[in-house]
Amino acid sequence: MSYTRRTWPMKPRILLVNPPIYDFSAYDFWLKPYGLLRVGGFLRGQAEFELFDYLDRADSRVPAGHYRSDPWGRGRFYSEAAAKPGLFADLPRHFRRFGLPRAVFRDYLLMSAPCDFVLIQSGMTYWYLGVREAIADIRSIWPKAKIVLGGVYATLCPAHARASGADLVIAGADLMPLWNFLEIAPDERALPLWDRYPSLAAGVLKLADGCPFRCTYCSVPQVYPKFHPRPLDRSLAELEFLLRLGVQQVAFYDDALLHQPEQLLKPFLCAALRRGWHVNFHTPNALNARFISRDLAEIMVTSGFKNIYLGFESSAYGWQKKTGGKVYSEELARAVDHLTRAGADRRLLHAYLIIGHPENDEQDVAASMEFANALGLLVKLSEFSPLPGTMDGERCRPWADLDEPLSHNKTAFTLKRLGQRQINYLKSRANELNRKLLAEFHHEPAARAPEAATEASMSDWP
Ligand code: SF4
Repeated sequence: MSYTRRTWPMKPRILLVNPPIYDFSAYDFWLKPYGLLRVGGFLRGQAEFELFDYLDRADSRVPAGHYRSDPWGRGRFYSEAAAKPGLFADLPRHFRRFGLPRAVFRDYLLMSAPCDFVLIQSGMTYWYLGVREAIADIRSIWPKAKIVLGGVYATLCPAHARASGADLVIAGADLMPLWNFLEIAPDERALPLWDRYPSLAAGVLKLADGCPFRCTYCSVPQVYPKFHPRPLDRSLAELEFLLRLGVQQVAFYDDALLHQPEQLLKPFLCAALRRGWHVNFHTPNALNARFISRDLAEIMVTSGFKNIYLGFESSAYGWQKKTGGKVYSEELARAVDHLTRAGADRRLLHAYLIIGHPENDEQDVAASMEFANALGLLVKLSEFSPLPGTMDGERCRPWADLDEPLSHNKTAFTLKRLGQRQINYLKSRANELNRKLLAEFHHEPAARAPEAATEASMSDWP
């Protein structure tokens, strides 16, 4: 591959920014700007880096408050009341800004020598107000800095993102336009810039990009058109680096972590076990229960999987089939059986169920919750977001102006679709089921200690 390359008289200075979030709610569910740190890492040694992560709860500039982490590294963000956009004027919810106060960033810009480039990561499409705020402040204080915007919002709404004021918008996973813009050739073996954090409790890993499924409500195939495994030795090096930095909680950001397990997850976990690495793994992105076999469950539990989230969405067969058939009820039941027999902590097994989906009548959320609960799973409701370019999102155009990313907001969309009463009913029923289940677990003997990996699973290490 050839890149436009320039010999810089001095190393260019690059600021990495993870912007604040504007939303009705936000929680640090192992939320890290992994893509941004990875991109910065590719330039390690060729540029000088600064990192400003508005969402770093360990930052000493977070105003005092109760923002402690739970035992797994999750927790509340500092937040402030924010003006509600006109689109949400009739919604009976408070709108907030999450992350370090705006004045902290402005002070940082005023006190620091301007950087040559600023790379900004974007998350949810409907969080773009935070991106715009960061860009406005950079423009006013460092007018000569070149601003590059990448991430999910930039990929799913490129035309909208181009109006944000960035000099370059990276839409998609191809980073060639970025390297040419910076005039630096990347070193794709270099590690993410996790070491820019003064203190780090949780990190993120990905063994592969993309997903082979095509669920009608999901935007992953737009971001990564193909499933593409990452080199195993690189993933191991990333994990080792996180451990060296003292990280004990690692969240997988894979969209299909269990796909091709013989080539990816199993050898990865076997290698980690052989090296004696101790870490708690979590899967905030749903796992596909279909692929949890007995030996995979054993090695997952043995190697430290703790909070396991299984993507279920609905127990209605018609709905499952219509939306892509990623998992069926009996497959979920089998996976739960394998995991519990392997010694998984049942208090940490969850099923995601989507609410506010355009086919919610057929989906039958209430019955689906009871089904998941009967299997011993804690129910986690996830609100549907109508994303442009997805089949189900496009069907929502009669109710939502998809060209305005704020209308993809999951809380607002679900509230409008289902109404406050229905949402209250579903949420309180989910809470009730979860409470009862946790009380049952409380009276059970503790989950048996994980055993050593079986010969069968260990033999997968090449
Ligand atoms: S399996 Fe998950 S990541 Fe893959 S398309 Fe379906 S919802 Fe998206």
